[in-house]
Amino acid sequence: MLCPKCSTPLTEKYYKGMLPVDYCPLCRGMWLDFDELDRLEDAAFDQDALKGSLLHRETDSLRVCPSCGGELREFQYRLYDLKLDWCPARHGFWLDAGEEERVQALMLRRAGEVRRKQAAEGEWQNLLKGLHQFLKQRP
Ligand SMILES: [Zn+2]
Ligand SMILES: [Zn+2]
Repeated sequence: MLCPKCSTPLTEKYYKGMLPVDYCPLCRGMWLDFDELDRLEDAAFDQDALKGSLLHRETDSLRVCPSCGGELREFQYRLYDLKLDWCPARHGFWLDAGEEERVQALMLRRAGEVRRKQAAEGEWQNLLKGLHQFLKQRP
């Protein structure tokens, strides 16, 4: 497989010892199989239902899929300020150098937001419970 960005042959590598990826030794980008992006995210935040939808605002990409040679599409990742490429035939995702770090950082941020929201909702529930008890106790 050739790098969609610089056409260098991709080599296999274990990303942080947890994920086998096809890696470009020249531009340091990586190709993730379809479920590998999910596994990369899960390392930071594993509640799929709360991640938000993945693909936003797709546009043409000048790159081609290293697996099938078809044109990749560029998309906005989960409404964040990050653009990734993917193969519409579901072969995988292309991440430029450093974008895998951004995916994980954004998922950590999302995990923090969800935790804060859940904590706030928990407090609200307690407040309501307290209010109910207060009302019941009144003569
Ligand atoms: Zn490359
Ligand atoms: Zn493809």
